Amino acid sequence: MASHSLKRILIKVSGEALAGDNSFGIEPEFLDQVAKQLWDLSKSGLEVAIVVGGGNIFRGMAVAAGGADRVVGDHMGMLATVINSLALGDAIKRCGGQAKVYSNIAMPAVADTFTVRDARRALAEGKITICAGGSGNPFFTTDTAAALKAVELQCDALFKGTQVDGVYSADPKQVADAERYDRISYDDVIANDLKVMDMAAFALARDNNLPIYVYQLDVDGGVRAVIDGTAVSTLVTG
Ligand code: UDP
Repeated sequence: MASHSLKRILIKVSGEALAGDNSFGIEPEFLDQVAKQLWDLSKSGLEVAIVVGGGNIFRGMAVAAGGADRVVGDHMGMLATVINSLALGDAIKRCGGQAKVYSNIAMPAVADTFTVRDARRALAEGKITICAGGSGNPFFTTDTAAALKAVELQCDALFKGTQVDGVYSADPKQVADAERYDRISYDDVIANDLKVMDMAAFALARDNNLPIYVYQLDVDGGVRAVIDGTAVSTLVTG
């Protein structure tokens, strides 16, 4: 059960959550499943902001590794997040929900440009508010964009889905007796060099006292189950 009251949350939806069993692209069945879960959350009265990744389509590092300009690669990666965000916004509407996509890279023909003011208003109106285009800057990840948007939009917590059901003392896929934490402080994450999110994202969350729930991406019931405590997670706080 979430240990503090949640009115507005931000969920980081990684690209892989939309790819389903494939490693590339968008799997319509998974997209619709994610959309429905998000709309159910929103219908329950929570204000839901979303940052979507792009790793199922393109990552800037991949092109930079081949010798190309990293900035161009990251622009391509951010455009991939716009593709995913448009797909998710449309899927939410198709399942009867309300969604608004804002882009952090101006492209007025496809989405309104993100402003904190408009996004906060959309959230207060009960629309699932999708922030596309990452942070709008190269050399960042959508994890960092998620922490940034969560702070800008005054969210009560950030939900980060991963391959495992929380933060462990060591990689549970490598170390059989690794311990899972129900709750851990920002300082202990740093002292023990535990991986929660990338460092820039984590620093932003810590400096602004933004609680982070780390949970298993494909858990039954999704974020609702994490909030209700029927699915385990790790809460990272001060
Ligand atoms: N990206 C960026 N700036 C941002 C967010 C993302 O340049 O603020 C680019 C970067 O190239 C990244 C890609 O977009 O690799 C896709 O995002 P990410 O890898 O975080 O997606 P995920 O792994 O969550 O699917």
